[in-house]
Amino acid sequence: MSKEVAPWASPIARSRIAEVAAGLTDLSPEGVSETVRGALRDHARKFDAEGIVLYAGTNLMSPAAREVADSLVSSRPSMGWPGEKYQSGLDHLDTLEVLAPTLVARLLGARFAEVRSHSATMANLAVYTALTEPGDTIAVLPERAGGHTSHHAVGAPGIRGLRVVDLPYDADAFDVDLDALPEFLEREQPRLVVIGASLLLFPHNIAAIAELVEDTPLLYDASHMAGLVAAGRFQRPLAEGADILTFSTYKSFGGPPGGVIATDDAALAERLSTAVFPGLTANYDAGRLAPLAVTAAEIMADEGAYADRCIANARILAAVLREEGFTVAGAARGFTDSHHVAVDVGDGRAAMDRLADAGIYLSAIGLPWQAPGEPDRGLRIGTQEVTRRGFGEDELRRIAAMMADVLLRDADPATVRKAAVRLRTSL
Ligand SMILES: *Cc1c(COP(=O)(O)O)cnc(C)c1O
Repeated sequence: MSKEVAPWASPIARSRIAEVAAGLTDLSPEGVSETVRGALRDHARKFDAEGIVLYAGTNLMSPAAREVADSLVSSRPSMGWPGEKYQSGLDHLDTLEVLAPTLVARLLGARFAEVRSHSATMANLAVYTALTEPGDTIAVLPERAGGHTSHHAVGAPGIRGLRVVDLPYDADAFDVDLDALPEFLEREQPRLVVIGASLLLFPHNIAAIAELVEDTPLLYDASHMAGLVAAGRFQRPLAEGADILTFSTYKSFGGPPGGVIATDDAALAERLSTAVFPGLTANYDAGRLAPLAVTAAEIMADEGAYADRCIANARILAAVLREEGFTVAGAARGFTDSHHVAVDVGDGRAAMDRLADAGIYLSAIGLPWQAPGEPDRGLRIGTQEVTRRGFGEDELRRIAAMMADVLLRDADPATVRKAAVRLRTSL
């Protein structure tokens, strides 16, 4: 193929893109279908049949949720509220459009849930759009403390023209530095404070933060914690003092991709929802709502059992990784109160690549104690997928041993991969 896909990308990305492009020779419909089928088959083998997925930002939808996920519904546009759709004939989708937000709101103990955003990033952009003006300041967690792209100037706040400042952070407490917060707020005058992160080992002290930010709206981004929060575990952000909750529906929550905004405040709900529609979405993907509703109903019926297993598995894995010789974050506090585990490996990306060669998939992450600008020191692990697949202590011990073989004992990743595939296919 002649044209480069992204000539502005990094040299590493450009070289990988060129390598893929060189293999794409047959662009006929048949050729493309075959290429696509092959890619999907190999991807499924890697992740769904053979791989050990410890990546924290994913999950397996339940069989019942998968059964109702229908891509044909996703290609039926749906615009506006039930009863006043732009298109005619969508009355059956009305059922989904009432059921999904009703269940999600009930699950979160919130009065209102807006479920039409296509991602948490878009949900966060809707919050910024509703509550700030271009030029305003928002305060967010630093990247090394798990502050997400969609909180930082490079992401959605930059699109809104916001000035983004990092909240003071206490690396020992794994939380906002409460002592430094009053002076910071006085100086920076943020219009919105954002907490909730891509790595959360311990709950935020929301009540104390909410008291100090006073009337400034407090957004808790529960993208990673939503499955636990919905199950009544980890923390209850709205009840503890956050004004708004946003999250991704496909991470620990275990549903289809999408974003949710929840709040108890009717006036706020109207502004946020109006920013989603007609603000940032016209037609939206109604096909997501069926699996979202089924997932929400299952979490409700489960009464926290799955969330408890995820947390218990994370604590076991963390303890065993430490026995194996790893530096595991949060050791003094029992490692974690969530399904996340963080390991300080010095060079997170190199470790992640070696583990991928061994059939163990996860990601690197910044750690609170690393120097500003230093490459990610950590590996982030989430137990939500292996827990759903039925992994328990025995399997987690074997995973920790494999990780140590690859990263601490210099074993050949290809050899370890055979053991990883055996473990994965044994369940
Ligand atoms: C993953 C993540 C998001 C982004 O979610 P998308 O649905 O992929 O847009 C937003 N916030 C946090 C804290 C995240 O970890």
